[in-house]
Amino acid sequence: MLVAVDELLTIGEFSARCGLSPKMLRSYAVAGLLSPAAVDRTSGYRFYGQGQIHAARAIALLRRAGVPVADIASFLAQPTTTRLDHWEQELDVETARRKQAFCDVREHLALDVEPADASRPRVTLNGGTGVPNLAAGAASDIGPVRARNQDAVLLDAELFAVADGMGSGGETASVIAVETLRSGFAANPTAEGLIDACREANRAVWLRAQSDPELTGMGTTLAAAGVVKTSDDEALLVVHVGDSRAYLLRNGELRRVTGDHSFTEALVRAGELTEQEARVHPKRSVLTRVLGMGPEVVPDAVEVVPDAGDRLLLCTDGLFNELEDVEISQVLSSGSAPGMAAEELVRLAVSRVGHDNASAVVIDMD
Ligand code: MN
Repeated sequence: MLVAVDELLTIGEFSARCGLSPKMLRSYAVAGLLSPAAVDRTSGYRFYGQGQIHAARAIALLRRAGVPVADIASFLAQPTTTRLDHWEQELDVETARRKQAFCDVREHLALDVEPADASRPRVTLNGGTGVPNLAAGAASDIGPVRARNQDAVLLDAELFAVADGMGSGGETASVIAVETLRSGFAANPTAEGLIDACREANRAVWLRAQSDPELTGMGTTLAAAGVVKTSDDEALLVVHVGDSRAYLLRNGELRRVTGDHSFTEALVRAGELTEQEARVHPKRSVLTRVLGMGPEVVPDAVEVVPDAGDRLLLCTDGLFNELEDVEISQVLSSGSAPGMAAEELVRLAVSRVGHDNASAVVIDMD
């Protein structure tokens, strides 16, 4: 590039104008990213042109965003928002992985005696006296747009679950999760057994994703409820990972039993977002804990001691993203049988604007 001598800036001047240190400028020159416009053959001093300031600032910003030097030249040759979006998504995945690792460290070092998000202690919703009679029904729908239903539901005598698969092979992940959960809980139908079965489900999804290149990166959420013995009777233990949810309808009032492992839920808990803002946040589908992302996962567990007339709902995000709590509450309170209520909720959800699969399991504890 030929530039007029009076336009030339010393490396110090140029550095001050563009925000890149002289040392960085020298390394970017070596990398072929930003070459000096001129070099003094006697002193070796480098000079840059005024016209290079714009490119240098772009490099400084991309570096601040953590974009590798090796990728910057090709990006600046043809800058697109698609590529930026892609890097941002990679960042979300990386953040989720690191959060998972922190959570694993806590568990590994047995640090989590204090109540904390990474491994909340079991919470008991006090109420009635056990689980004498259970009736349950389930429904799942692909929705109007998706090519596959990646949700899976499980309806067993004393175990119920929904799972929402994601990534290429997500439909495999959700099925592996519920099937592994079923066999694990059958072998050990206790609270510990259900939590272990959830961890086992994680391992099964993860191992399968490792061994099959077509399934790399698949994962799934899981929300399950199993009948377990307590000191005096029986209760339902709800375990979950990710943003599939359990709701309890008790005395006509709907309350959420699970806290999503998601980016937006963390912001809500930190007081930085309201529930309503979280519902429409562009990153509401970014999860901080998922089955299949690593060899270990920490499920949350909540014990529900049932009261007469309690209704428990397990559902995937395709359902609760489309329906207001009051609508969920209305359908659950309508008095229809569990299977009918599940079907009605799913039918209503997929009739809305969303594109997702929707699934529900309704359990009556009477
Ligand atoms: Mn979903």
